[in-house]
Amino acid sequence: MSANRVTIALHGGSGATPGHDYSREIDNMLRLVASARDRLDAGSSAIDVVTETVAALESSGLYIAGRGASPNLAGRYELDASLMDGSTRKAGAVASLCGFRSPIAAARAVMDVTPHVLYAGDGAAEFAGSQALPAVLDEKAWYTEACRFESNRLPQSAPHGTVGCVALDRRGNLAAATSTAGVFGKPPGRVGDSAIIGAGTWADDEVAVSCTGQGEFFIRSAAAVQVAHRVRFGGRTLAQAADEVLGEVAERGGAGGLIAVDSRGNVVMPFRSSGMKRAALLADGSIVAEAL
Ligand code: ASP
Repeated sequence: MSANRVTIALHGGSGATPGHDYSREIDNMLRLVASARDRLDAGSSAIDVVTETVAALESSGLYIAGRGASPNLAGRYELDASLMDGSTRKAGAVASLCGFRSPIAAARAVMDVTPHVLYAGDGAAEFAGSQALPAVLDEKAWYTEACRFESNRLPQSAPHGTVGCVALDRRGNLAAATSTAGVFGKPPGRVGDSAIIGAGTWADDEVAVSCTGQGEFFIRSAAAVQVAHRVRFGGRTLAQAADEVLGEVAERGGAGGLIAVDSRGNVVMPFRSSGMKRAALLADGSIVAEAL
């Protein structure tokens, strides 16, 4: 195996409130980056590490995804997730999935065991059940409502959720994964960018991206794939590409951010929103984690 330097970045969603104590999220993100780095150093693949890291972010209950999910307007927990393996261009996704603990595990199963990319609604739940993925048996006991703090403070239309991870492994392969409960106060059936390959998640052999923010604007900008294509076809650096795409999202009225890595090990975490919970392994080996 070649000894490529590994890279990892993750996010816990755009939107953070000045003055609020995010130390639990920061501790959690620092720990997850360190363990992802160790797994990558030991030779784990990028796709396995992004799947496991997003599953850990989901189960922490600290973010608006997985265990921390917020319900939709009808009181149901409808979750979206997607992932992509840059080396194979294989992808898996679920939209409006109800009743399962880890939407990213369901997305991974879609990628691994079906010829399809995206399962939605009842079909997604039926599929997750067929794979014996852990179900949510008691919603009240399972969901932590990490959203309560933010939802009391921010307008209904503000973005608040989502976790994501991008990684470069020792073989030089890239992967990206994203999982969310979506925006607060979403109507039943509403699906955002986090379930859509090319919008909220993208990975190819040059760039891996996971987005967070007002999903409708990220879908309309094909934000994640656009970052990669600005690098591939536009000769942009990763940082330029990411800034230009967020600029386009902002021009259309959308707020949010993204994390991205490229095959050279560059990592960027720009946002145009009131903060973004984020963490990364830097080139000098240090780990940073911030919310604002
Ligand atoms: N992008 C997510 C969605 O629109 C929400 C978020 O990132 O906060 O569903």
